[in-house]
Amino acid sequence: MQVHVVGNACVDTTFRLCRFPAPGETLNAIAYADGLGGKGANQAVAAARTGASVTLWTALGKDSAGAWIRSRLDRELPDIQANEFDLPSDRSTIVIDAGGENFIVSGVACCEAFDPTSQTALAHRLAPGDILVMQGNLRGAATNACLRAARENGARTVLNASPIDAAALPDFGLAEVLVVNQNEATALSCRGDMAAAADSLAAKGAGTVVITLGAEGCLVVGSGQTGSFRLPAPHVEVVDTSGAGDVFCGCLAGGLARKMSVRSALKLALAAAAIAVTRQGTLSSCPSASEMAALIDQTELS
Ligand code: AMP
Repeated sequence: MQVHVVGNACVDTTFRLCRFPAPGETLNAIAYADGLGGKGANQAVAAARTGASVTLWTALGKDSAGAWIRSRLDRELPDIQANEFDLPSDRSTIVIDAGGENFIVSGVACCEAFDPTSQTALAHRLAPGDILVMQGNLRGAATNACLRAARENGARTVLNASPIDAAALPDFGLAEVLVVNQNEATALSCRGDMAAAADSLAAKGAGTVVITLGAEGCLVVGSGQTGSFRLPAPHVEVVDTSGAGDVFCGCLAGGLARKMSVRSALKLALAAAAIAVTRQGTLSSCPSASEMAALIDQTELS
């Protein structure tokens, strides 16, 4: 049972500041560094560390950043299907304040040019029971085509609708599991109350809607066996929340690939994301494979 993660891999440049700058203000960072990032790469690595077999389908520029991203991905994932474009590789600037809150700005030229169903063998590799994981960085039509191919081939679909671009939204009806955070839930549903937002998103056709609630865990509104419920997050000391949502989604997919129920896979995702927020960085904060194995044992016993 393969997890196919389709999404961006990029250079994350992270700046740590005492506070966020005001518009027009320039601040010197306390520290800054480049790292491997991108929602696709982050989620693929998190899923792989759960022990699931993972393929990352991604788009890179034919530039030095693309070569650097590829070399970093090779250390993490055995199966990388990377299409190369004559475009600048995707990159993100992450600004983190002393309280661990963050702002992220991304350039996603390669992702926008990426159309996996026409440019890659993805549609031929999706098999019954496989899990396709996507985010909001590809164009809506390209995302829909992948989700549709998954469903036609009997694969399950997890859509993390992040970032959101109102002009290019995928069809939520193609998502077996839709994952959004509170800001995204409000923006997509025009509802400030998360239970109402989840109901509204479920009405758009997603099988199960998961709204992540930061320190409060997550809210689930599901059809059929899954049902509707809340799950708490473990209490931890927050250092840096960047990448926590990606760890959450990757572990959810990894758990499903390991034949966990949606509820158990969510418990694993919450436990792994709680560890991630206690550490600095995006990918660097993701629990290791051995930490993940211990979390899976705890989840299966609970
Ligand atoms: P968010 O995008 O802020 O909703 O965070 C995604 C996920 O990361 C949450 O559903 C939690 O699993 C985890 N998370 C974020 N912030 C915290 C926190 N303060 N304590 C524990 N877990 C957290």
